[in-house]
This record gives sequence, structure tokens and C-alpha cells, in this order.
Amino acid sequence: MTPKPSLLSLPITELNSWFAAQKQPKFRVNQLLKWLYSPGISEFDQMTNLPKSLREALKNSFTLRTMKVAAVLGSEESPAEKFLLELEDGNRIEAVILHNAQGQHSLCASTQVGCAMKCAFCASGMDGMVRNLTSGEILEQFLFAADLLAKRGQRLSHAVIMGMGEPTANLDSLLSALAIVSSEGGLGIGARKITISTVGIPAGILRLAELDHPYHLAISLHAPNDSIRTRIMPSNRGIGMEAILRAADSYFEKTGRRVTYEYILIAGVNDSIENARELAGKLRGRNALVNLIPFNPVKELAFRTPSASQIQQFARILESNGIQIALRHRKGEKIDAACGQLRRSRGINAPTEN
Ligand code: SAH
Repeated sequence: MTPKPSLLSLPITELNSWFAAQKQPKFRVNQLLKWLYSPGISEFDQMTNLPKSLREALKNSFTLRTMKVAAVLGSEESPAEKFLLELEDGNRIEAVILHNAQGQHSLCASTQVGCAMKCAFCASGMDGMVRNLTSGEILEQFLFAADLLAKRGQRLSHAVIMGMGEPTANLDSLLSALAIVSSEGGLGIGARKITISTVGIPAGILRLAELDHPYHLAISLHAPNDSIRTRIMPSNRGIGMEAILRAADSYFEKTGRRVTYEYILIAGVNDSIENARELAGKLRGRNALVNLIPFNPVKELAFRTPSASQIQQFARILESNGIQIALRHRKGEKIDAACGQLRRSRGINAPTEN
């Protein structure tokens, strides 16, 4: 049996024709849409201003939610609460809710099952790329987080697209989902509160720069030169840092928004004094923030996290060269929160039933 289509992925034109075919007045579509994006509403029977017959017809034709929680790590008390979500086809993705000291709640969302980028330090791409998420599946991660927070009397206020997958490789679906997330009629999370992180694909960056309401941009740089970068990030081959930095410059010129560069510090790979100086040289004069992130160990990988003093030294060299930095300790470290780790530790697919 083919599963019923998800209402979250259905183009509005198709929704309108469905309502017309049901001989339903147009205002009912808007009533439905309002419910669809209301935190805490995950069943048709909660949509109390729709006639019962319409709710039954909707139930028979569509699904409202397609994912189920396969595992949870952490809790509302921890800085990061991580969810392994199982999709209708049995594939699994990760979504993390980050709770900060100011009482804000942010979602880290995935865009793909697996990842094709094959970064040497990352668990997400270890099993390769399985498929893109649909816009409905991306949106549903937001609704899942908003629903859960609503039950606690809390609100989802920010989002980072830093889960599994490369956002620029699934940009159409991501942008359709984010259009709803960021609109007043949707989840009302403003574009400025949403950060898209990319491995560094110039065409994708330029497309993000052209949006009317641009999202915040983060670029996973992780190296001071092409030789190190290509070694740990094969997607750099044939692109190169210069082209990525140029695309980021155009993003800044078009949007006026400062670009964040993420830099994972990996012992003996990209954390030396020379590496810091070379990075400072590349970024000097650019309006940039470097987010220094100590490498989060992945069981299957031989990479190591540098010592605290090595990390401090790297940070000081950037600062003394006039580069703005933020030194982050990854919030999810204790709970396998680096991308793809939970999925690998619990099985990348649903256990087969027998
Ligand atoms: N593909 C996008 C989105 C993933 S974002 C990108 O590359 O930006 C996830 C961030 O976590 C990226 O900056 C990624 O490089 C980083 N990351 C992956 N594995 C990590 C690890 N083991 N420790 C620390 N950061 C890691």
C-alpha cells in the first residue's frame, strides 16, 4: 500500500484542488493551514473549527505527521536534547533541540539521509548518501520541536541547518520548508534567526545571497589552505577556498550580513601556530566571525581533539590579528551530538521486523 501523501509536502495548488473536488469553500483551506503550523496540533481531530466530515475526509486522504521517535538522548535539562527520528521508509535522521542559558530553544535540523560530502572528520557521510529529505520532512522536524516545546510551555525561537546532509545539495526543498518556518502564517521564526551551514558550494552560497529575506550563512571552512582542506574535505577539490571566500564576499555585499566561518580544531591536522597565522591572513579585512569548535571525537575515526592550551593559543593568534572569534564547546559532546553519530550508534535504519 502506498502511504497517504503528507500534507506538509503538498503544494498549495494541489491542496486547493482537493478542497474544490470536495466542494469545500475556499476559506476552509486557510483554516486548515492555520492549524497545520500551530505548535501542539498534530491530529486532525484537534482542528475544531473544521466540520467532522471534512476532518474524516482529510484523515482518509493525507497524513499529518510521518516521523516517529526511535531514540532520545539528553533531556530538557541538558544543553542539547537529541532525537533519532524514523521516516516513513524506515530511514533515520537526527534532529537536536539546543537549550541555552537564556532560556531560548533552537532546532538543529537535517536536510538529507546521510551525506555525499565525505568530510573525513564527520560521521554523517560515513555510510554515504541515501536520499534528500522532502520539504515536508524538513518542515516536520520543526513542527516536532515546536510541538514538544509547546507541551512544556516553551517556544522554538531559532534554528540552525547543521544536522545531517549538505543543505545546498537539497536547496529547493530546504527553501520551501524554511519559507513556511519563517513566515508569520507559519512558525514565525524570522530569517535572521535561522542559520544555514554549508560545506562551501559557491553556487549555493550565491543563491542564498539573492533571497529577499536572507538567512544567516555559516561556512564550514576547517582549514587555512587548499592542501589541508582538500585532504579533510574532498568537496574542496575543483572548487578551492578562494572561490568559496569570493562567494561569501558577494553574500556579504548583497545582504550586509556578517558570514560565520566554522573551524573545527583537529590535533596535528589544522591547529598549529602556522595554520592560525595563515587563516588570519586569508580572513583579514573580511567582515567575518570564526567559530572555533574543538573536534568532537567519533569512535571510528583516529582524529583527536587538541589540548585546551593549544586551542587557546590558536584563538589568541586569530584575535591578535584582528579576527573576531567565538570559542565554542560543542553542546552535544556527551550525547553523540556531532552529526550522524547517534544514527550510527543506534543503526542507520529501522530494525527489520520479523
Ligand atoms: N554539510 C553542512 C551542514 C553540516 S553542519 C556543513 O558542512 O556545514 C555540521 C557542522 O558540524 C559542520 O561544520 C561540520 O563540519 C561539523 N562537524 C562534523 N563532524 C564533526 C565533529 N566530529 N566534530 C566537530 N564538528 C563536526
